[in-house]
Amino acid sequence: MKNIAIIGSGISGLTAAYLLSKKHKVTVYEKDNRIGGHTATVDIEKDGEKIAIDTGFIVFNDKTYPNYLALLDEIGIGKQATEMSFSVHNCQTGMEYNGHNLNTLFAQRRNLFRPKFWLLVKEILRFNKQCKAIFESQNYQSGLTLGQFLAENNFSDYFAEHYILPMGAAIWSSSLAQMGDFEFRFFVQFFHNHGLLNIADRPQWYVIPNGSRSYLAPLCEPFKDRIHLEANISGITRENNKVQLHFSHTEGNTQPNTETKYEEFDEVVIACHSDQALALLNDASNDENTILSAMPYSENSVVLHTDKRLLPKRQKAWASWNYQLSQDRHKAASVTYNMNILQGLQSKHTFCVTLNQKDEIDPASILREFTYHHPIFSAQSIKAQTQRDRICGINHTHFAGAYWHNGFHEDGVRSAVEVAKRFDCVLSK
Ligand SMILES: Cc1cc2nc3c(=O)[nH]c(=O)nc-3n(C[C@H](O)[C@H](O)[C@H](O)COP(=O)(O)OP(=O)(O)OC[C@H]3O[C@@H](n4cnc5c(N)ncnc54)[C@H](O)[C@@H]3O)c2cc1C
Repeated sequence: MKNIAIIGSGISGLTAAYLLSKKHKVTVYEKDNRIGGHTATVDIEKDGEKIAIDTGFIVFNDKTYPNYLALLDEIGIGKQATEMSFSVHNCQTGMEYNGHNLNTLFAQRRNLFRPKFWLLVKEILRFNKQCKAIFESQNYQSGLTLGQFLAENNFSDYFAEHYILPMGAAIWSSSLAQMGDFEFRFFVQFFHNHGLLNIADRPQWYVIPNGSRSYLAPLCEPFKDRIHLEANISGITRENNKVQLHFSHTEGNTQPNTETKYEEFDEVVIACHSDQALALLNDASNDENTILSAMPYSENSVVLHTDKRLLPKRQKAWASWNYQLSQDRHKAASVTYNMNILQGLQSKHTFCVTLNQKDEIDPASILREFTYHHPIFSAQSIKAQTQRDRICGINHTHFAGAYWHNGFHEDGVRSAVEVAKRFDCVLSK
């Protein structure tokens, strides 16, 4: 039995802890005052209504989340079907559509008479067909970006700026400019696997009933007494075939052992973001430096509120994800999740979670504010992902995190499953 430290209590850290606890002694350190990382459901009380609303991780599906689904099954957590739809609205031109079905696509009836809009629909179909053919033949042009693919294949700026770039920017919380620089192969694989190149035959999406945090307690059950919140780890060293976690003892800090300067473990799983992981390593190797620093994160402001003006004007155009176009191509995605649609909330209020658009929200409608970080994907970060074996499992140190794959919940679970396999710990199905 090994004595293993896990740093970070997002889905990656908790999955690693859950699996490793089947055969080893695990201790979890979380710097925040709560567990869960991006699994961050909050309790809202408004006009006598009490509602649990997800502010970070919300949805998953039956096609591209096999490890997460197996984990939920193993810990006995159910799921609730939801609708995944996507709208775009342009405040400058007034154009808006919801891509859910034909009726919502033409929610703004004026779109029926806009040749540009029909061209957009035609281009969506052409783009989907072309990408599917490339996926099937696996015939990718090396180093090609999404922006280059669009230009080389004569897709209009209108299609790029009103459909494909906003959709990608909403998914990866990036800007339109960053989406243009996205590696085309990575983009096509993700869109194909998530059924986003199909008009029909899309995956069924789900949420966790009563909020995503509901899975945390059963997941932590085997090691709940060995979770340290507000952990103030000042650094990690690897010496004498062991790993040392060093703590800075500030006031109010509840470290397990304030007598010693550090705690020693056989192994450590660092399950925070790549930049946070690197910052913790006092004796980072050249490979750790190079690989982790090639996978940066971007900051997203997230606001939970009830200001419906952040949604399209026409209610028929309201989708689960609503993208508002901006003049600034370098601005991070401005997306509003309609939480009533996503979580099936029954309320007289419309609860919205808006990314990167705080200035436009009526301050009186703001309920909570957060800052979350999302990995930035580029040719450089995708190359770094392929070099994980050069640092993960070396020197008693393992790295888990959604950033090793596509940046989503399944990827956090997958990255932890990969680490746990090394210790002979697996999901039961
Ligand atoms: C707004 C938003 C919405 C999202 N919605 C979805 C969605 O619907 N579906 C989906 O699949 N994905 C979604 N994602 C992606 C989400 O990021 C991943 O699904 C996943 O939750 C990331 O998990 P993680 O474990 O890698 O990181 P995190 O959840 O960020 O966990 C990292 C943890 O490490 C802790 N930590 C950091 N530094 C230290 C330290 N020095 N010491 C101790 N602890 C430390 C942090 O406090 C945090 O708890 C969303 C992301 C964002 C930003």
